[in-house]
Amino acid sequence: METSVNNVSGDKMSIQESLKLVGKGDIAVIEWDLVGEKVNKMSTPVMARFRELLDEVNDSNKFKAVVVISRKPGIFIAGADIEEIKQLKKREDILAAIDGGQSIMNKMEDLKIPIIAAIHGACLGGGCELALACDYRIATDDPSTRIGLPEVKLGIIPGFGGCVRLPRVVGLQASLDIILAGKAVDANKAARIGLVDQVVHPQQLEETVMAFAQKIISEGKGKRKQRFKPTKIADKILESVARPIVFKQAKKTVLAQSHGHYPAPLKALEVVRKTYGESRRDLAMKTEAEGFADVAGTDVSKNLINVFFMMEAVKKRSGVTSGVKGKNVKSIGVLGAGTMGGGIAFVAADKGIEVRMKDINNDALAIGYKASRDILDKELKKRKISKYDLTRKINLISGGLDFAGFGQLDVVIEAIVEDMNIKKKVIAETAKHCKPDCIIATNTSSLSVSEMAKGHPNPANFVGMHFFNPVHKMPLVEVIRGEQSSDEATATVFELSKKMGKVPVVVKDGPGFLVNRLLMPYLIEASFLLQEGADIEKVDKLMVKKFGLPMGPYTLMDEIGIDVCIKVTKIFKEAFGERMEVPKVMDKFLELKRYGKKTGRGFYLYDEKGRRQGVDPAIYTDLGLGAPKHPHSDVEVTQRCIYPMINEAALALIEEQIVDTPDEVDLAMIMGTGFPPFRGGLLRYADTIGTAKITDDLEAYAAKYGMRFKPSGPLRTLAKTNRTFYT
Ligand code: NAD
Repeated sequence: METSVNNVSGDKMSIQESLKLVGKGDIAVIEWDLVGEKVNKMSTPVMARFRELLDEVNDSNKFKAVVVISRKPGIFIAGADIEEIKQLKKREDILAAIDGGQSIMNKMEDLKIPIIAAIHGACLGGGCELALACDYRIATDDPSTRIGLPEVKLGIIPGFGGCVRLPRVVGLQASLDIILAGKAVDANKAARIGLVDQVVHPQQLEETVMAFAQKIISEGKGKRKQRFKPTKIADKILESVARPIVFKQAKKTVLAQSHGHYPAPLKALEVVRKTYGESRRDLAMKTEAEGFADVAGTDVSKNLINVFFMMEAVKKRSGVTSGVKGKNVKSIGVLGAGTMGGGIAFVAADKGIEVRMKDINNDALAIGYKASRDILDKELKKRKISKYDLTRKINLISGGLDFAGFGQLDVVIEAIVEDMNIKKKVIAETAKHCKPDCIIATNTSSLSVSEMAKGHPNPANFVGMHFFNPVHKMPLVEVIRGEQSSDEATATVFELSKKMGKVPVVVKDGPGFLVNRLLMPYLIEASFLLQEGADIEKVDKLMVKKFGLPMGPYTLMDEIGIDVCIKVTKIFKEAFGERMEVPKVMDKFLELKRYGKKTGRGFYLYDEKGRRQGVDPAIYTDLGLGAPKHPHSDVEVTQRCIYPMINEAALALIEEQIVDTPDEVDLAMIMGTGFPPFRGGLLRYADTIGTAKITDDLEAYAAKYGMRFKPSGPLRTLAKTNRTFYT
């Protein structure tokens, strides 16, 4: 992505090749196909070329209609060049860049002749804004066709007219749904809301668009003033008297979801409110540009853009440095059809990979199938997939109690009980039924991959592939390289993870690998806080609403299982010593069999459907604590919850090289725990505080509460040498 501007701007020839004007009778076809790039995106030189072509069309008087089409497979226009946006710092530069983009969109709108977008593939951000500036839009029903405005996900707002034109085309409610959530819709949904005029099969796109253009010409239809005309009574009300309520409700929803940490959706809402119904385009565009400048360049936006680039980098990685390529996996086996096995089978089949599940009893297999069926049924209900998709995906999963079919598999993922001896035996048995080059990957969450590899006749073909629960929602996969795992095995499961729509991060073998190891000190410290009189609800709320984590520590422990948390902490204590202390209060949970959600009682109470009911009023007495006095300040609670994770990350990254870069720590924490993306990740957050301050605070806590807070060697070194994790 970063190379695009250089590729295209550096070479005049290539930019001319990238955007071409082809005359087809009285129709001008502007073809996008950026040279040397996988996707079409709107860098400054590309947009200058587009402007040139629009001028050429306008000046020639030869044409009666224009078609904008892409020649790239699966991509219309993916959006503006994000690297350029990242470079914009000064307000006047931001405003100038926005003005450049807006003026091109206005030029399209002002062309003398009608302009039609032929959309196949991603039509996002600036690409969608360009399509909105066309008079008509025709899209393919291919799954790759996604139309939307994801800007708020990067901490910015649509700035090339999207906030102004989308509401005019599809109305207030439908446009806010897209803009505020940064959503993209498929062609059918786009047609339902009036975002596209026609939906066609990909093979028929060009033919249909050309015929459509001819028809407009022959009927003398010309330009079109795009204004949403509500037909349903509800829409008529929302567009008129209830308009203030729509804005108020939208603001409430945004604040409830973002806790005020993400300024972009609020800014977008403000821009839509100020510009909807404004007939003076220049004023509306100015408001949008000012709004864009208010949020672009903020720390939140910078952090979100960094996260975007980290994700892009993963797409280009192979998981190894040797250049060895992973196999293209077409079929996998899954051992164990339980919580994890069932989830793994679903995500594989969802991406078109054939799956053979094996379990030791039929009831378990039935539960495994049902897991996939339930998710697909929900998607069908929400019209995310068709009946045909559902059948096709379900048919990719088969199962049995024996190893039938395992001889053809490329990869087998093991997800059976967490017991080293059983796993080793099952792995040895499985290898006998597989091809010699079949890779076996374990989904263990706590056992040593290198040790488990001893069960495999060829440990080079054995790796870890640690998915998170629930598998279909959690994006991270830790690819664990055992001591003997080969490059090919590592690269193959890295590729497979990507094919399954996941974000893989390669980690070294070690207790808790990366994410669980960093997460545990957070949960431990919350337990100490409770023991000292903290209020459960106040701590959870603070960490969610103020800090931005998806779950507070007590809610998270209830979800994982308090018994599991205690067991893991004890294992970690063996490995890491005093940093992983279990506070005494936790033993009570075991005595009382208060294991969390699964037993209906943990820190909170749960109803029979597993829905959380509120903090158990009996908990403080049951634990022998008395009413909570909550003696700690918010600052102390936050620091004591977060700094131990940073301390542990310093050891894992710098001393033990569990991962190679701070980026990987941040990506893994965001994708594996939901660490707030607006903070950029655990270590970017640490860098905003400063390693020296964190070290000093940890020293103070160590003196007051115990040696588990002792700053680690690598953190001290960073602090002493005035360095951050990223320098
Ligand atoms: P589970 O109890 O839900 O499922 C295990 C399944 O394995 C059961 O259906 C069982 O019948 C089957 N099984 C047992 N022995 C077998 C054998 N010899 N051959 C085939 N199937 C066999 O367990 P789970 O929660 O899905 O955990 C599975 C693995 O995933 C464990 O190693 C666990 O540590 C790991 N893991 C779990 C989670 C989680 O949150 N549940 C998260 C990450 C990793």
